Amino acid sequence: MAGVAAVVVAGGRGLRAGGHLPKQYRTVGNVPVLRQSLSIFAAHPEVRWVQPVIHRDDGSLYTQAAEGMSVLPPAFGGETRQQSVRAGLEALAALSPQFVLVHDAARPFASPALVSRAIAAAAAGAAIPGVAMTDTIKEVDADARVLRTLDRARLRGIQTPQAFTFDALLAAHRKAAAAGRDDFTDDAALAEWAGMTVSVFEGDADNVKLTNPEDFSRIEARELAALGDVRTGNGYDVHAFAAGDHVWLGGVKIAHERALSGHSDADAGLHALVDAILGALADGDIGAHFPPSDPKWKGASSDRFLRFAVERVRARGGRVVHLDLTIVCEAPKIGPHRDAMRARIAEIAGLSIDRVGVKATTSEKLGFTGRREGIAAFATATVRLPWSAP
Ligand code: MG
Repeated sequence: MAGVAAVVVAGGRGLRAGGHLPKQYRTVGNVPVLRQSLSIFAAHPEVRWVQPVIHRDDGSLYTQAAEGMSVLPPAFGGETRQQSVRAGLEALAALSPQFVLVHDAARPFASPALVSRAIAAAAAGAAIPGVAMTDTIKEVDADARVLRTLDRARLRGIQTPQAFTFDALLAAHRKAAAAGRDDFTDDAALAEWAGMTVSVFEGDADNVKLTNPEDFSRIEARELAALGDVRTGNGYDVHAFAAGDHVWLGGVKIAHERALSGHSDADAGLHALVDAILGALADGDIGAHFPPSDPKWKGASSDRFLRFAVERVRARGGRVVHLDLTIVCEAPKIGPHRDAMRARIAEIAGLSIDRVGVKATTSEKLGFTGRREGIAAFATATVRLPWSAP
């Protein structure tokens, strides 16, 4: 029995944050919140297993969000947070971890240092991160009349990850379930009920929980303000028509009397976007990163090239904030597919759809596009990076 496991709970519907997506699948800085939260633990050298817990209806959202991550297969959550945590613990039971950290997916800014503090504190049996209160705290009645002022020196705002001896927390959860209790809002409350002593270690003021739409906009504003180096890149790509019955354009498959020929799926739209992003980074071009001479990229779906380019921006501490694409062809008609392309590009790049433009034009029957010999695409990317002297 050894090792530390982390349970990351993302089973709620989280629709208070607005939008059509549960909040854990919304993006902050081009990355879904859940992916960011999972990566905190997946990348931590002292954490051996990461157990996601998701809602049963979110399977395809999860597959997208966690693509390529080394985490355990997700467990399905229950009606309440407590049931979801228990599902994660039961899924881990066969691995017999020594310690477990329980973390809310809606806190994507937990730092590696905070996780290390949690692990160090876990030996005590039950330990939770807390921050001192800076506001004065009042207790009020149902009519919002102040009953009393609490001594804030003795109060802490409690966060996650909360750390426990695995066997003790699993036993406490089973005991609560057997007693018909499924309404504890955090694991510390459940542990207290089960008779465990819970201690508080130092939390982190930046480890905020994303709950309401304002939380998302405040975080976006804070992040963007730190990215003062605004850059624009352009990209251009052409693929010739060949025999076939569909084309890939802007990440969307469109039935057509011809196909586009190329080494990959020949999606000129996505290729132009990749070069635009790489141009903004002054980081070569798509051919330098994915040589056509490499058989590995034969028939490759171009969404991976776009994801790669976005990842290059993130690796520099920056983010893509806008993408604009113009497709030039006589046929197929692009208009009917415009919004599907915008949605797909937004999904791949981790942007909201209002930050993706797709436009189309013919070339008035002039030139190679006018003669229906191929399709051309132009793209512009706007990227923000941390400021560095030019
Ligand atoms: Mg190309």
